[in-house]
Amino acid sequence: MGRTKKVGITGRFGARYGSTIRKRVREIEEKMKRPHKCPKCGTKAVKRISVGIWQCRKCNHTFTGGAYIPVTGVGKAVARAAQRQEAK
Ligand SMILES: [Zn+2]
Repeated sequence: MGRTKKVGITGRFGARYGSTIRKRVREIEEKMKRPHKCPKCGTKAVKRISVGIWQCRKCNHTFTGGAYIPVTGVGKAVARAAQRQEAK
């Protein structure tokens, strides 16, 4: 166990789950832990507080988003669809 340069954050899984899966998890988790931009104040102070729930530490704006990143491609499509509905 331990974090090595090669496996990064997924070093905690040891040799389990296979290298391809660990690599995928690593990509997702590293994206998730990076600072995210707040849709309200624009500061990069958004942290994930739960699955799909994100909060800005600066303006306390809490919003829902993707499970692993605040804005997903699907989420954007849904937002556009919702706006079209409202426009009717
Ligand atoms: Zn904010």
